[in-house]
Amino acid sequence: MNFALNEEQTEIRDSIIRFARQELSVSADEANGFPHAAWRKCAEMQLMALPFPEEYGGCGADFLTTVVATQAFGYACKDAGLVHAVCTQILCGMQINSFGSEELKHRYLPSLVRGEKIFAQAITEAGSGSDALGMRTRAELAEGGYLLNGTKIFITNGPVADVVLVFAVTNPEVSRISGISCLVVEKGMSGFTQCAPMAKMGLDTLQNGELVFADCPVPAENLVGSAGQGAILFNESMEWERCLLPAAHLGTLERIFETSVAYAKGRSAFGQPISKFQAVSSKIVEMKMALELGRLMLYKVATTKDQHKRAALEASIVKLYISEALKKTCLDAVQIHGGYGYMKEYEVERDLRDSIAATIYSGTSEMQQNIISRFIGL
Ligand SMILES: Cc1cc2nc3c(=O)[nH]c(=O)nc-3n(C[C@H](O)[C@H](O)[C@H](O)COP(=O)(O)OP(=O)(O)OC[C@H]3O[C@@H](n4cnc5c(N)ncnc54)[C@H](O)[C@@H]3O)c2cc1C
Repeated sequence: MNFALNEEQTEIRDSIIRFARQELSVSADEANGFPHAAWRKCAEMQLMALPFPEEYGGCGADFLTTVVATQAFGYACKDAGLVHAVCTQILCGMQINSFGSEELKHRYLPSLVRGEKIFAQAITEAGSGSDALGMRTRAELAEGGYLLNGTKIFITNGPVADVVLVFAVTNPEVSRISGISCLVVEKGMSGFTQCAPMAKMGLDTLQNGELVFADCPVPAENLVGSAGQGAILFNESMEWERCLLPAAHLGTLERIFETSVAYAKGRSAFGQPISKFQAVSSKIVEMKMALELGRLMLYKVATTKDQHKRAALEASIVKLYISEALKKTCLDAVQIHGGYGYMKEYEVERDLRDSIAATIYSGTSEMQQNIISRFIGL
């Protein structure tokens, strides 16, 4: 076991931290709306290109390096909505790169890595969130391909997306595992409507909305993988997602930990720094433990994926652990900051609002517990 980052990973991490601090300084609350300018800067920095082969304009980095980079991005960029949007872009690309035909890769990956087109993945429906494979959106065989009908909800980047990976039932006669497929739908296709962004509790710059498909014709060559392979693709992509998003969250957790340490040392009460009160320092000790333990598990999952092995159990553990740790860390940070923590000026209230979503998207905490208990055989 080697726990040290190599020279390249260290260089990438440091350059992303420098970049985000210098270039992405606009507060997320001020930006409000999709941050197109910051998005373009992230693309120029090649954040969206990291794990993709050089022949499509990618950097050819392994998944662990992508995870380390994402962690640095989550650490230095205070706009968690932007970080999440970039992660979604990368995750869509990984699905196309791993399952798509050569033609699809050439058609979409170059514009994905350059950030010229914004990508989204659409699985959730109003009636099926946790029960993702219980989806009703239907892709019926039609001349030259499929006719898509249904509505997706909460879709990240949905309102601004140029390209959407849509999961739909292609064969209702077989089991859910083999009756779902993934299709690429492009903005402007007939019968495809992108609804306005939904108002949210946090992640202000992230655009989430409904996507409606009404007799939307999708050519057969837009299938990602083969017909009926959707559930396999979904399961694999969840393993990447439950590692990449927690990487960003762990970066955020590290920033909040440092902010809390600095505040607790600088703020005095009863004639001494509040860090000297055990009720305060214990909260910070828990943050440090979450940071160290989360990092070990995160890098283990990323390394396992680089070895092309399954990591469904480990990815669920890391997703559950880090998202809950982030939420607790944010809550504790507000408490440590006292009245100032509740005021927008100190920014920790925004981190708290952003953090709640981490325990919901990509499978709720309860669903991760279900997965883990299934692996234990309970
Ligand atoms: C910010 C954000 C971004 C998102 N981005 C996307 C996206 O890009 N693409 C996409 O497809 N979806 C996206 N989603 C949707 C997200 O994946 C779902 O919201 C999530 O899976 C939960 O589904 P639901 O909202 O229908 O809740 P429900 O499934 O209705 O769950 C409600 C509650 O019941 C609990 N519950 C349900 N079933 C069980 C069970 N079997 N055991 C125990 N508890 C259970 C849940 O844990 C939860 O607490 C996003 C959501 C958010 C908030």
